[in-house]
Amino acid sequence: MLDALNDTRYHEPVLFEPVIGLEIHARLLTETKIFCGCSTRFGNRPNTNVCPVCLGLPGALPVLNRRAVDFAAKAALALNCEVQERSIFARKNYFYPDLPKGYQISQYELPLATEGALEYTANSVSKRVGIIRVHMEEDAGKSLHEGFADSDQKTYLDFNRSGTPLIEIVTHPDLRSAADAADAFRRLREILTTLGVNDGNMEEGSLRCDANVSVRPVGQQTLGTKTEVKNINSFRYLEKALEYEIGRQTGVLQSGGTIVQETRLWDADAGETFSMRSKEDAHDYRYFPEPDLPPVQLAPARIQEIRGTILELPDARRLRLMADYGLSELDVKALERSDLVALFEGTAKAAGNAKAAFNWISGEVARKRNELGERFDRERVLPQSLAKLIGIVESGAISASIAKTVFERMYDSGRSADEIVEQDGLAQIGDEGALMASVRSVIDANQDAVAQYRNGKTGTIGFLVGQVMKATGGKAKPALVNDLLRRELDQ
Ligand code: ADP
Ligand code: ZN
Ligand code: MG
Repeated sequence: MLDALNDTRYHEPVLFEPVIGLEIHARLLTETKIFCGCSTRFGNRPNTNVCPVCLGLPGALPVLNRRAVDFAAKAALALNCEVQERSIFARKNYFYPDLPKGYQISQYELPLATEGALEYTANSVSKRVGIIRVHMEEDAGKSLHEGFADSDQKTYLDFNRSGTPLIEIVTHPDLRSAADAADAFRRLREILTTLGVNDGNMEEGSLRCDANVSVRPVGQQTLGTKTEVKNINSFRYLEKALEYEIGRQTGVLQSGGTIVQETRLWDADAGETFSMRSKEDAHDYRYFPEPDLPPVQLAPARIQEIRGTILELPDARRLRLMADYGLSELDVKALERSDLVALFEGTAKAAGNAKAAFNWISGEVARKRNELGERFDRERVLPQSLAKLIGIVESGAISASIAKTVFERMYDSGRSADEIVEQDGLAQIGDEGALMASVRSVIDANQDAVAQYRNGKTGTIGFLVGQVMKATGGKAKPALVNDLLRRELDQ
């Protein structure tokens, strides 16, 4: 017993905290490649979108795609970065079969943009993830390891992707959990796709994420040794890979080991990361300025102009919708999920009634949208026409349940709400004379219920009201029916 107490292996368990920074590569949605006029289209026959420049043939000279710079700067500005008026392309030298020149044109010492932040709100909490830099670079080609008769002996190369413009976004190590990292990446994707600079397609590799992670004892200020996890192509895998890696590193440290700085690959099938190579340092790449390209010059006026092309970003829009229309975060998410935010805003404004607009759009319209999926025709549900329907309901001319019928018919026929109400005779019957006949015939046909009512079971009136509503096709004004029935029954 005494031995066990004195044994230094028995001590308070140390709590470890993860530290995570992301490096994100996003393909820019330009028509042509970054240094040549070849198409960036995905999925064409291998080696059809190529030329001497993107094949790296000797003597071919790169010319920078202006649109790629616009897109890169737009993304950087949306991430609150400082876009530099002068930045430099550099050669990053390494050998790999899919890199025909033997170097990748990237940016190193003077990148396009520096120091920014990804900012967003999650469950009413403001989050901030610092951005170290955003730089431009070209993508490599693609090695095809399978799909050919002799794939067991040969690797084929497709250079269609070679020279596709990318931005690399590097965050500060500000993230403290796998879930936070996945959420930050989600927000980043949302921004890039909203800007229209990236299609967000992770399966096709248009958006890729490498995750740097270390752990350290809680309270320690200095960072622990990190590993970099590659090959992550979904949010779920990012979270899983990080959780695995956090657990692995914590285990190593707890058992007295040390973390080796290295690059690890995520194996989705095994649910594990495994060591790929020891991490190379910047000097391994022998970076030097690209002699074939002049510095990128961006005049302040051009930066301003690019800034002007940034429309409202997702998080700002969410906060505005909540503030302007009294929606909750969940309400806004529901509208976003069914892609009905614009329709909601238009309708709320046109109807002057945000609550009614939200109820309609999150109810009937969303139902229709989900039912029809891609076939949902937005032209058939315009803010003005939906607002008119809301107005008719508010005026008391039709009941809420008839309004649903009207909406169906609006969608199917393209007629306006008032046309439908009038042509199809759906207006609420609020006229005593017109209702009296129905009230009387319901009384005649339901003598049992009438007797029960008169014997004191006054609740039966609900049943009788229902019968009148049915007889009038739902058009009767329920309160009036109630009054008329009582008047008749109480005599
Ligand atoms: P390297 O020189 O290895 O490329 P950088 O300093 O350029 O490292 O950072 C690359 C990425 O790794 C950034 O996203 C950064 O936030 C993250 N990072 C750096 N140090 C750590 C660490 N100790 N733990 C976790 N992430 C880190
Ligand atoms: Zn080319
Ligand atoms: Mg680095």
